[in-house]
Amino acid sequence: MSFSLEEIDRYARHLVLRELGGPGQQRLKAAKVLIVGAGGLGAPAALYLAAAGVGVIGLVDADTVALSNLQRQVLYRGVDVGRLKVDAAAKALGALNPHVQIDAHAIALGPDNARDAVAGYDLVLDGTDNFDTRFAVNAACVATRKPLVSGAIGRWTGQVGVFTGKPCYQCLVPEVPPEAETCQAVGVVGALAGVIGSMMALEAVKLVTGAGQPLAGRLMLYDALAAETRTVRLSADPACPVCGG
Ligand SMILES: [Zn+2]
Repeated sequence: MSFSLEEIDRYARHLVLRELGGPGQQRLKAAKVLIVGAGGLGAPAALYLAAAGVGVIGLVDADTVALSNLQRQVLYRGVDVGRLKVDAAAKALGALNPHVQIDAHAIALGPDNARDAVAGYDLVLDGTDNFDTRFAVNAACVATRKPLVSGAIGRWTGQVGVFTGKPCYQCLVPEVPPEAETCQAVGVVGALAGVIGSMMALEAVKLVTGAGQPLAGRLMLYDALAAETRTVRLSADPACPVCGG
């Protein structure tokens, strides 16, 4: 896989990085990444992965753009309100980088279709806001051995983790928390979506290129009000219904 002069210019800041360089940029171009949820987290993640030159980006989201999305979903513009998110996203990402193939999937993922959805991709980012989808995506990733980059935000705090088998996401969240909060109910500061979504994109770039140490088996927690981060190590749950036994 060779690069045109235009691509060499476009990716110049990657190409001079020791940990990426030509081989890393080739791996990005050959990579197929699925982003589940084109919302607060998926929007910045998609922008950075398209800008980075990931060859194929799949986007899964059944929603249309709402005016209240524009406070943090930086992929969309006012004219996109009412349009399918994946269609608006595909247009914006194509304008950013024409070398990237965008596969738009205007569907909701659940236990019946998640495995088929992830099958054609090398790794999966999940930035959705409901646990049923998260569990289905996690189970599909474990079953098909795809790395999962998972992000979540609410109010002023966010988290990002990478799951590569054991522990899996459901070891961390065994069941739907009884007091699960939604951003719609409790709010979220817009720039926090940019922080966590960008971290998800960064972990994806590391996984694809082999640069550095991925956040595998660890969870990074960000408290925006305190301006503090901490990283905790996760352990596999032997009784996990997805990866245990
Ligand atoms: Zn598990």
